[in-house]
Amino acid sequence: MTSSKPSYIIVGAGVFGVSTAYHLIKKYPDASVTLVDRDAFDADSRVAASWDWNKVVRADYDDIVYCQLALEAQDVFKTDSLWKPYFHETGIYWMCRSEYAQDVVDNYKKLGRKADLSAVPIDEARKMYGGLFDDADYTDVKEVLVNKTSGWAAAGDCLRAITRKTIELGVKYVKAEVATLQFDDHGRCCGLRTATGDTLTASHITLCTGAYTPKLLELSAESSGLMDLRAGPRIVAGGITTGLTQLDDNSYERFAAMPVGVQGYTAKTGPFIGSLPPTKDRELKWWGQTIFRNVQEVLPGRYISAPPAEPDYAQWKVSAKLKEDIDHANNVFYGRKGASWKLEKHRICWDAFTTSSDFIISPHSASEGLYVATCGNFHGWKFFPVLGKYVLQMLEGSLPSQLAEKWAWDRERPDPVLNPDWPRAEMKDLLDPVRTSRL
Ligand SMILES: Cc1cc2nc3c(=O)[nH]c(=O)nc-3n(C[C@H](O)[C@H](O)[C@H](O)COP(=O)(O)OP(=O)(O)OC[C@H]3O[C@@H](n4cnc5c(N)ncnc54)[C@H](O)[C@@H]3O)c2cc1C
Repeated sequence: MTSSKPSYIIVGAGVFGVSTAYHLIKKYPDASVTLVDRDAFDADSRVAASWDWNKVVRADYDDIVYCQLALEAQDVFKTDSLWKPYFHETGIYWMCRSEYAQDVVDNYKKLGRKADLSAVPIDEARKMYGGLFDDADYTDVKEVLVNKTSGWAAAGDCLRAITRKTIELGVKYVKAEVATLQFDDHGRCCGLRTATGDTLTASHITLCTGAYTPKLLELSAESSGLMDLRAGPRIVAGGITTGLTQLDDNSYERFAAMPVGVQGYTAKTGPFIGSLPPTKDRELKWWGQTIFRNVQEVLPGRYISAPPAEPDYAQWKVSAKLKEDIDHANNVFYGRKGASWKLEKHRICWDAFTTSSDFIISPHSASEGLYVATCGNFHGWKFFPVLGKYVLQMLEGSLPSQLAEKWAWDRERPDPVLNPDWPRAEMKDLLDPVRTSRL
């Protein structure tokens, strides 16, 4: 039974969930707020996309809404002592094959934001940063966006620190796998059931479950009979590979102060590829260009994309083909400079995608009391400091209409053909061949 005082369960302790819990408990210090996640927040390995060595933090968006939102988040990273230790203002070096650079520069202007950024001609750009990107692939590149005020964050460390802070402020953290949502006789969402059979109840249930969201809704639709709970084409789980190399002393000296590197492509040629500056363990990172679904039968006759069923999403089982994707990324950024590097620590990271790359921060239209806040679309981490502010506005019905429409559960969605990051490949086509032994 739920009491008349609002209470909150947030499923998923990635950036959407933790930011929501943080903003809720800051605004309502006496509120009952519970974060539920299958992994402990300080576990050595987690499935969350938000849990990572590092993430790009930039406001370099051609969509002015995300440009503005990212600037708001960066202001927190740069001024708030809780967030500051995790942000590194190294700059970004973005090889653009469209009008992207100019669009970003224009957006900063429109927002009246002064920053050290410009669209630089290729010949001039190649000489910057000691020529680190001189060997990169510049085929079809029009110009290079250099923004000295962008950078990266130590993502896992930051997630752990902010989660710890929310717990100190009064949020309860429960480590449990959520099996299904629970509904009262009127179809109102009133809680959840865990895989071990425990039940948790609250007046507001918010799903911040990333790539797992469509599967959880599918299972909850089946158990409740509320078929409209299903995500349908709104959300697709997509995976992508990352890889690291540990730099030797010589390379580290050269690369320690490098900016974030981005190879930007168009929807016709593929998703953008990134390379992040070395961490404190001297590990330089890439993400690959192959973004894939993993369509599987989650219930008899129900096929959707979801992370592999293993408790760790099989995230450390990376096939040879996907490792080649990281070799390719290394080559298009560093050419000869990176040719002898040993690429290791490969991981598959799962995120939730919409065709427009917009978040979903919205009441779920099929059940009162149920809310959805996720769909990072491979770019959600950088908004960590402010996501919860907007989720809270959504919960309280005060989200500005422009954002409420953009992030709605029910809205018109564009054809994914124009989205370079849309998961187009299938995981089964990328796996290692299964060896059969002859007896
Ligand atoms: C390889 C890669 C690189 C990226 N790089 C960047 C970048 O540089 N910059 C950037 O801004 N963004 C980046 N992103 C995107 C960003 O990481 C994501 O958009 C964001 O972290 C998603 O946050 P989330 O809270 O929605 O999901 P997640 O972080 O995935 O969190 C979801 C949580 O829900 C929990 N959960 C799910 N189902 C259940 C269940 N049934 N029971 C209990 N718990 C459950 C999971 O355990 C998990 O902890 C990248 C993403 C990937 C995959």
